Amino acid sequence: MVTRHQNFIEGRFIESKGSDFIPVLNPATGDALSEIPDTDAAQVGEAVQAAKNAQRAWEKRPAIERAGYLRQIAARLRENVPELAKAIVEEQGKVMGLAEVEVNFTADYLDYMAEWARRIEGEIVTSDRPGETIFLFRQAIGVVGGILPWNFPFFLIARKLAPALVTGNTIVLKPSEETPNNAALFMKLLAETDMPAGVVNMVFGRGATTGAALCEDPAVGLLSFTGSVGTGSRIMAAAAKNITKVNLELGGKAPAIVMDDADIDLAVNAITASRIINSGQVCNCAERVYVHAGIEDEFVSKLSKKMAESRYGDPMADRTVDYGPMINKAGLDKVAGMVDRAKASGATIVTGGSVADLGKGNYYEPTVLTGCSQDSEIMQSEVFGPVIPVNTVTSLDEAIERANDSDYGLTSSIYTRDIGNAMRACSEIKFGETYINRENFEAMQGYHAGVRKSGIGGADGKHGLYEYTQTHMVYLQN
Ligand code: NAD
Repeated sequence: MVTRHQNFIEGRFIESKGSDFIPVLNPATGDALSEIPDTDAAQVGEAVQAAKNAQRAWEKRPAIERAGYLRQIAARLRENVPELAKAIVEEQGKVMGLAEVEVNFTADYLDYMAEWARRIEGEIVTSDRPGETIFLFRQAIGVVGGILPWNFPFFLIARKLAPALVTGNTIVLKPSEETPNNAALFMKLLAETDMPAGVVNMVFGRGATTGAALCEDPAVGLLSFTGSVGTGSRIMAAAAKNITKVNLELGGKAPAIVMDDADIDLAVNAITASRIINSGQVCNCAERVYVHAGIEDEFVSKLSKKMAESRYGDPMADRTVDYGPMINKAGLDKVAGMVDRAKASGATIVTGGSVADLGKGNYYEPTVLTGCSQDSEIMQSEVFGPVIPVNTVTSLDEAIERANDSDYGLTSSIYTRDIGNAMRACSEIKFGETYINRENFEAMQGYHAGVRKSGIGGADGKHGLYEYTQTHMVYLQN
């Protein structure tokens, strides 16, 4: 009998009122790990009501006090890194080292957001009237609905919870149905702190049931979502009914420009690392390469060698593998279909190009394709796997034009020794982030935000924190 997770509402773990249960599988073995309820709208409503009931008193506490609870959670996470990392590896398939980094980074993130308690600022502006003071201050929005994907399932809890709580909001979280175990552990540790009941709530279930109910609840003031563009669009449509504010962190198709004056080895190492981390299932990692014709042969030869050396397998059975399985069979089939169609439309597979048969699990070979045309599916749609399509350019202008020719606009990168070229690329590439001569991975003090279909609003740093506040202007006539 596998563990059946309970929802966490008003400080208590309670039986679900969902109509059925969803199995949670280990993507490396297919073994059943647990099951979650498909929580119905009525119980989602109870969770939102609990968050609403707790919100006023929570916001009245000084921010520094609220921050203290975040620090308590961070400490509990640090005391339990091995158990938490194991849960992430088993249900999500990333390698142990990365799962440990995810847990520690999550704890650091909670501490970082706690530091903002003494830094939430307003403004005073001059008035046209004698004796009047005009000022702007920041208030909590109220109840936040946080809807999470599966690829960094643990960290993304904190990315929503920490800024929401320190600014005085309460929250209802809905983890991905693929990865609820680590989320349940997060709640177990949170329940062991002094966190007041109702401030943090968690409901499990499918997107179409539990997620949709959260989006449609009029008591939710902000829907903070990380996931795919298609779901983001559905969430925005649901939010439109109640004019609910949205914060959407969606997919990416990050271009990596490699100029003819680049440090080729650096570019190869960074792009490979960026592409195999988490089996390529990362929103911000290099999804398409534009290499200058002058270095194409050397670059492609080194890149395909480096990718081919990447080792994959069950990360619980072999701790030395570079990457693990894709999250599920549908994810694997998506990657395989896109590579097959690229090949059929004229791309050349330099290395990889097939599903890897390890007896069980969802594995794809590290793959490099050349001759990928700009308008092809593999250069335009998110692959979300260990696959690098390469396109050749003859100038920086051409590279910038092709980089911008995308529905997505999350992250981008350029490899060059010419600072002038790098800065020109930064000013002309219309993306939320650009990395120069390094792999794509954001800092918690930055601002992670996409343009075009990659999202609305952003996360991290001061700008991300303020997304969880609403401004309030006051006109005081003395
Ligand atoms: P997904 O959109 O399939 O699911 C994400 C969450 O939305 C899940 O919890 C799901 O149950 C829920 N959901 C689905 N339908 C819903 C609905 N109608 N209403 C409410 N909730 C609903 O995404 P995924 O496959 O879990 O994650 C992968 C995607 O996330 C990729 O596209 C990736 O690029 C993106 N991502 C983006 C960022 C970022 O910071 N921009 C970070 C991580 C992942």
